Amino acid sequence: MNIETKRHSLSHIMAQAVKEMYPNAKMAIGPDIENWFYYDFDFGTEEFKEENLKELEKKMKKIISQNQKFEQYDLDFDEAVKYLKENKEDYKVEMALELKEKWVKEISFYKNIMQNWNISYTDMCSGPHVDNSNKLDANAFKLDKIAWAYWKWDSNNKMLTRIYWFAFDTKEELDNHLKMLEEARKRDHRVLWAKLKLFTISQLVWAWLPLLQPNGMIIRKELEDYLWELHKDKWYSRVWTPHLAKEDLYKCSWHAEKFWDELFRVKWWEESFFLKPMNCPHHMQIFDDNQFSYRDMPIRYFEPATVYRDEKTGQLSWLTRVRAITQDDWHLFCRVSQISEEVWTIVWIIKEFYKTMGMLDWYWVRLSIRWPEWKYLWSDEVWDQAEWALKVAAEKYDLPYKVWVWEAAFYWPKLDFMFKDAIWREWQLATIQCDFNLPVRFNLSFTNENNEEERPVVIHRAISWSLERFMWVMIEHFAGIFPLWLAPKQAIVVPVWVDFMDYADKVYKNLKENWIRVSLDSSTDSLNKKVRSAEKMHINYILVVWAEEEKENSVSIRNYKTKEQTTEKVDNFIKNIKIEIAEKNI
Ligand SMILES: [Zn+2]
Ligand SMILES: [Zn+2]
Repeated sequence: MNIETKRHSLSHIMAQAVKEMYPNAKMAIGPDIENWFYYDFDFGTEEFKEENLKELEKKMKKIISQNQKFEQYDLDFDEAVKYLKENKEDYKVEMALELKEKWVKEISFYKNIMQNWNISYTDMCSGPHVDNSNKLDANAFKLDKIAWAYWKWDSNNKMLTRIYWFAFDTKEELDNHLKMLEEARKRDHRVLWAKLKLFTISQLVWAWLPLLQPNGMIIRKELEDYLWELHKDKWYSRVWTPHLAKEDLYKCSWHAEKFWDELFRVKWWEESFFLKPMNCPHHMQIFDDNQFSYRDMPIRYFEPATVYRDEKTGQLSWLTRVRAITQDDWHLFCRVSQISEEVWTIVWIIKEFYKTMGMLDWYWVRLSIRWPEWKYLWSDEVWDQAEWALKVAAEKYDLPYKVWVWEAAFYWPKLDFMFKDAIWREWQLATIQCDFNLPVRFNLSFTNENNEEERPVVIHRAISWSLERFMWVMIEHFAGIFPLWLAPKQAIVVPVWVDFMDYADKVYKNLKENWIRVSLDSSTDSLNKKVRSAEKMHINYILVVWAEEEKENSVSIRNYKTKEQTTEKVDNFIKNIKIEIAEKNI
């Protein structure tokens, strides 16, 4: 029995429990997301509060223990709607009517049957469900919290009560998950970013547009520089594009149509602009202004560029709720025959990058290929070649990949990389996508050996997904204790007493001249207090100086991560810290 079926069945048991406790409540929807689920209800005039969760949980456990059978049956459309209307399930009626628009004639229902053959509960759903509630472990689920959400994400609609919950196969898995959540709460980037002064949210700017403080900017710049370092000897060139472009550009690229609701429009007299939602169309223009021949191919562009999208709240988790996203966006234009070699290079870069982040111990890759029955742009032959190239790359690097079949015509073959962070949360981060569509839309070409115009393939690829999201993943992955190369402050010089300020200042300047991110504590606080405030900022090397150190030209080092205390000559310390930074050790 797979866990999805269990979770899905459990969501019905929750709805049943709600209805038993609040007969007037109306059911809305309850989708399954990985590990975390919710169900939206309209409680009408009654109020459902967080403290009611316990009681609801108890009720669910009781229902599970009643060995209820789940039985499927179909009703024709009119009967179904009649039944739902009788039961005042307004939201289900709306959903059923939407099914009618899709020419559905019969609607699936299921009923829960008690041992005494009474029907205890009925709902519209095609399953799959467990056959009996005894297949569910009453101790392996937990109702987590409540929130509010508009029906269909539309603020013109009614506000519904959302119940979040999670469920697993066993109690042990649930306990592990609860432990992980507890750990995640401690690592919450919103707490850490305030404590470490990384970001600022200004209501005058907008809550969804965080501003980077100097400390945050250091992390971002280091990440960006490292990404570039991994690419620059692989024949990539940097380009730059502005934040605004005419509507026509995105009409041509089809982004205007696809993302219309998410685009920020800018009116200037009679002209209509969009804030840039994607870098791709801009890079197409840069390519197009050249007369490339096959000898120039592939052409590779890089731009860590900020794009603006108002993604619908439903697609945003609390971690990514920003409207300005800086993609580490790389586009390369190549011949179909060059795809595999290019993909190999990108895979090498991705592995190198995530090894440095300490995330390569566990990951998997999704290879998305086309649905055989669909009609796609470009010939089957080209698709075969692109899919084959991605598969070969996946196999050459021994990537743990799973094949995924796309059902939509506008997608293209791609590799998506999923990594797990230090507390085993999975993140989709890197991506490599072969695109045959945009080169057609922008009529791109280069001259081939026969002096004919040939259409390039575009490979979109991101290593970190976006710098904002990646920084947040990193803040929580490292629990705010960054490897030295990423740390906003790498060392702090702390004189025991103001009398040693001159020597402390000398050490400080020496480190600064060696490009180490160091500060000097010149306060008159006690040594303990100075050390504590350095630790609060997670500064790894706390360099205490006193008479002995001055005499020996040394520093007493307190290592925040290892808690070790050692004494070293200043020159030696500088030599070692520079090695640690350069090697990007974790
Ligand atoms: Zn169901
Ligand atoms: Zn792109």
